[in-house]
Amino acid sequence: MKKIGVLALQGAVDEHIQMIESAGALAFKVKHSSDLGGLDGLVLPGGESTTMRKIMKRYDLMEPVKAFAKEGKAIFGTCAGLVLLSKEIEGGEESLGLLDATAIRNGFGRQKESFEAELTVEVFDDSPFEAVFIRAPYLIEPSDEVSVLATVENRIVAAKQANILVTAFHPELTNDNRLMKYFLEKMV
Ligand code: GLN
Repeated sequence: MKKIGVLALQGAVDEHIQMIESAGALAFKVKHSSDLGGLDGLVLPGGESTTMRKIMKRYDLMEPVKAFAKEGKAIFGTCAGLVLLSKEIEGGEESLGLLDATAIRNGFGRQKESFEAELTVEVFDDSPFEAVFIRAPYLIEPSDEVSVLATVENRIVAAKQANILVTAFHPELTNDNRLMKYFLEKMV
């Protein structure tokens, strides 16, 4: 069985663990760089990207996570995870720089702190994907290397580049595990 880590410093960790298990893989919490050894893939959950970055730096996890991706291992970032994986964050905060696009934090504004949307996701040709957004970011200026998988109001909310998958929404908060299955089957 594939072994998937969930960065467990802050944010929606347990929900991702359940979703990974429901999609047929083994899930492990990652708190230290040594926990990355032996994993086939990694999830960066939602939460607060500023806090997550601060803790990642304190635990010396920024470089090991970059190295994990450079080895070709797959990473799935949701919401704050998308922010941290992007090459740039609007405002100039430090990121992991693994997905060639710029993240706009809290991009849907105050009226839309949280909302749900039925998305057409490029890789699923069947039913729409019910997506939960919570103070969600979106992406701008993707390079040619980036495949856009879904948009809301013309804003990019799901994308993929080689071994990196990102969503601005929280797939772990619904029962639809198609995106996790896609990650496990096509990317890990
Ligand atoms: N607004 C948060 C950030 O910028 C992300 C919110 C979330 O992960 N639900 O980090």
